Order: sequence, then C-alpha cells, then structure tokens
Amino acid sequence: MDNQNSNFIKDIMIKDLESGKHETIMTRFPPEPNGYLHIGHAKSIILNFGLADDFSGTTNLRFDDTNPAKEDIEFVNSIKEDVKWLGFEWDNLFFASDYFDEMYNRAVLLIKKGLAYVDDLSADEIREYRGTLTEPGKNSPYRDRSIEENLDLFQRMRNGEFGNGEKVLRAKIDMASPNINLRDPVIYRIAHVTHHNTGDKWCIYPMYAFAHPLEDAIEGVTHSICTIEFEDQRPFYNWVVEQCEMKNQPQQIEFGRLNLTNTVMSKRKLKQLVEEGFVDGWDDPRMPTISGMRRRGFTPESIRTFVRETAVTKNNATVDFEMLEHFVREDLKLKAPRTMGIINPLKVVITNYPEGQIELLDAEINPENPEMGMRKIPFSREIYIEQDDFMENPPKKYFRLFPGNEVRLKHAYFIKCEEVVKDADGNVVELRCTYDPETKSGTGFTGRKVKGTIHWVEATHAVPAEFRLYEPLILDASEENEEGTFLDHVNPNSLQVFEGFVEPNMKESRPHDKFQFFRHGYFNVDPKHTTVDKLVFNRIVSLKSSFKL
Ligand code: ATP
Ligand code: MG
Repeated sequence: MDNQNSNFIKDIMIKDLESGKHETIMTRFPPEPNGYLHIGHAKSIILNFGLADDFSGTTNLRFDDTNPAKEDIEFVNSIKEDVKWLGFEWDNLFFASDYFDEMYNRAVLLIKKGLAYVDDLSADEIREYRGTLTEPGKNSPYRDRSIEENLDLFQRMRNGEFGNGEKVLRAKIDMASPNINLRDPVIYRIAHVTHHNTGDKWCIYPMYAFAHPLEDAIEGVTHSICTIEFEDQRPFYNWVVEQCEMKNQPQQIEFGRLNLTNTVMSKRKLKQLVEEGFVDGWDDPRMPTISGMRRRGFTPESIRTFVRETAVTKNNATVDFEMLEHFVREDLKLKAPRTMGIINPLKVVITNYPEGQIELLDAEINPENPEMGMRKIPFSREIYIEQDDFMENPPKKYFRLFPGNEVRLKHAYFIKCEEVVKDADGNVVELRCTYDPETKSGTGFTGRKVKGTIHWVEATHAVPAEFRLYEPLILDASEENEEGTFLDHVNPNSLQVFEGFVEPNMKESRPHDKFQFFRHGYFNVDPKHTTVDKLVFNRIVSLKSSFKL
C-alpha cells in the first residue's frame, strides 16, 4: 500500500473498499494516440498504475482512438514502449475503437428514449446557439424531430449518405443548463477518414465526452482519474453512464495537472516543435517527452520518484524543473561510474616527463560507492585539459592554470605552467608545463599545497567524443502563453555541441551507459548519434544545484 503517498484519491479508494462499494480497484491510463507521452502523462500513469497496485487492483492501457484524423500507429507504439520503460505493466490493452459497435448501439438507445437527435445545424451555428456562460442557449430547429426520423437519419449517417459536417447526433438535455457541457452536446460526428484500427468500417465517430464514460463503464473501471479541466464534464459523464444504462458506474475523479517551469507540455505545441524543425524529432533530448528524457539520460526511477514527490491536489501546479534534476542526480550518484572527459580541449606538453613513457594511474570508479572498484588511467608527456582551466591573465582568486602557477591534475601530479604557445592569430594552442614526480596522488605528499584541481585526459590514448550540452528549449514560456507565441521563446542556445576526448577505458561504452564526468555532470551515451567510430554524450544534468527539497 505504498506506491503512492497518501492523497485524496487514495482516500476515496480506501473508503470504497471499506464500505463494500467495490471489491477491487480498476483504473486505466487512457492516452489519445496523437503524439508522444510527456512528463505530465507520467503523473497520470504513476497515479493510475500506482494506486491500483497499492490495492492489488488492475490497470488497463486504453487508447482513446476516437479521432482518426489525428491519430497514428506510430504513436500507439511509442506510448506502449514508454509506459513499459517507466516500469509499468498493464493488465489489459484496449482500444476505444474496440467498442465502436457498442457505442453505436448505446447512441441508438438514447435516440429510442428520446434523449438524442440528429441536427443539421453547421458547427458554427451550433456554437452560436449554445449561448454563453451568462446567457442560456436556444433550441435547434431540428431538436424535435421524431424518434423514427432520428433513427433513420442516424442510420443513414452511418451508411455514409452525408458529407463531413452535414449532420451530427446530439444528446437532448437542456439548452438552458448553467453548465454549458449539458447544452445538448454533440455525441457523434461524420468523418470520412480511415481509422488505424477499424479501417473504413466507420464514417461516423463518437465524440470524446460521450465515448470516454462508455469506455470506462464497459471495462468496469471503478475510479476514472482525469485532469481538472474535466471537472465541468463530470455531470455529462454521469448522464451518459446512467442514460445509456451501463451496468458499471465508474466514478470520475479529477486532479491538477503537472506542469514544469520553462517547459511546454501540450502535445499540440510539442508537435509544432517537431514539425517546424526546432528539434530533431519527438525524442530530441531537449523535449519533455518520455522518449526525449530517456535519450537525454533520465532514468525511470528518477522520474517515478520525482512524480511521487509532487502533490496530488485539485489544482494545476507548476513544479521547478530543478526538482526533477535533483532526483536524477540522487539516482545516479551511486550508480554512475566517475570518469574524466575534456569538452573543449587544450593540449599540454609536460616537458620534463620522459618521452614515450606511459604510466597507469589508479582511480576509484565511484568514491561514494567503493564496491564499484578501481580503474586504470594512462598518463604521459602529452595530455588535454579544458580551455577554461587556463587563463593567460587571470583575475584574482583564479586558482586554475596560468603562467607560473601550479595545480593538481586529478589522480595524477602537480603541474606548473612554464610557457604558452600561440598560433599566428595569437590564440593559445598549447601549454608547456613541468610536473613534480614527488606529488603523485595517493602517495601522501604533503610538501606543499595547491588551490586548484583540474581534470585531464592523456592525449595519445584519448578517445574522441562529442558532447552535447543543453539548456531549456523554451525560456519564460508558461503554458498560459497565448496561442503560438511560445515559439518566440525558443532558446537559440538550447543545444551546444563540442568535440572533445574521454578516457580510453570508455571506448566500449554502449548507448544509454551513464557516467559522471568529473566537474561536468552526468552524461548519457546518445542512442541515436553514437556509432562504432564515435561516442556522443548527452549532458543529463550538471553537478551543481541551487535546488533544496
Ligand atoms: P495534452 O494536453 O498534453 O495534449 P492530453 O490530456 O490531451 O494532453 P491525453 O492523451 O488525452 O493527453 O492524456 C492521457 C491522460 O494523461 C489523461 O488522463 C490526461 O488527463 C493525463 N495528462 C495529460 N497531461 C497531463 C499533465 N500535464 N499532468 C497530469 N496528467 C496529464
Ligand atoms: Mg487530449
């Protein structure tokens, strides 16, 4: 009973089991296959699967595929993969389209009960007739068609006798209802579109608001968990279940959406970023999609822990992206091997080190997890350091390399900068240093201290590698921004690519291997760009954080 921290939905379930209203809990995760899953969906997945699991109940993965124009099998497959990767197994896999026959029959039942009618008004007219929050709507002139005429017209809609938009089927409830969702909502529309599951069998498709409660009821879902914007739909949800005479009566429960700072989460906007070429596909490591985060290097554990730590409430909440970063650091701290990599190389020649000599130095694989053991790293007369770790004219309190200064090379020796070599344009292209053999790491040298420790990679054995560093894709764009304008906030520096070097023992790294590069942060071997000849590392997150839980 502890996948999910205690929350109001869990309390409802406990009560329903205690009172005998339900013997077991059944939930479902109901994505529409019109895009890839994002971190917001992870919240819904973890709630649905986690809660059912806490009570040894069941969870269905159900594709809400009632809008064939926007849906695609590519999305179905990616969603399945992502749910599994997050660590969840569905008890049943269903498609809303499996129920099209039953939905049609329930719509016919409504017509027979005088609770649904075929309307000839156009979409615009229906909107006009609907009224506003302050004014009631008015009845369609077609509202009082006879049951026989409605049955005949609905049959003919199904037979394909009408074009798209020519007619709709509407529930007959109350055009004056204070809840706009109850002003005769459309429940079936005509769409001559091939469906990824049912092909050309149907040219009429149920509307989401009608289909969804039926899907839940058909499956016997006990608690239908959805996001807060559906709260006003609940009366219609209950109306459908009741008037369609469904045996099971699921309870709709709404919770607040999860949003992240500097992150757009709507599938429509994510799709726009993909289609307009701002990113390299749905799985671009800058995307908040599950597949993007996987490629970036986030672990399922870190996403699960993060989501569980965000509250389940009735309000939409925006959570600091740094909280997610905190949890991936926590997860990788003991798991990821430590290593050294040079992102922006500067050659250093150690002039007093014997030419041709290679020495193997010992280094811990992870000082916080000694069980991971030791590794050997070569050292020789030529190494690379970071360009950033040298300054010719340093400010005060700069403790890294500058002419005449001495620093420690991590796991190796002290070196002192003796000479700066420049090219014809005056750029620093090489440093000439000396080392002190007495200062070898691990020998307990105490003769003198240096203030800076920098990392390095031995030059003749170094493995070339590409480093991809990321910043937020969107700056200052909350979900509240107006239509389209979020594209004005795309960060031009969201991806920076560097060609550098890593330790030779990393040559055999495989896609999705994760490392902590000394001083640079956690990185993941990119599965898309890495080849046998070239390692590509995505920075998951840097080491520093201002975030406090
Ligand atoms: P989007 O608005 O991003 O397009 P959606 O709600 O249209 O998402 P669906 O495929 O319909 O996407 O969502 C499947 C489930 O995931 C729904 O129950 C939905 O409420 C939930 N969900 C989607 N986004 C979030 C979010 N940001 N936080 C929590 N749950 C979410
Ligand atoms: Mg949706």
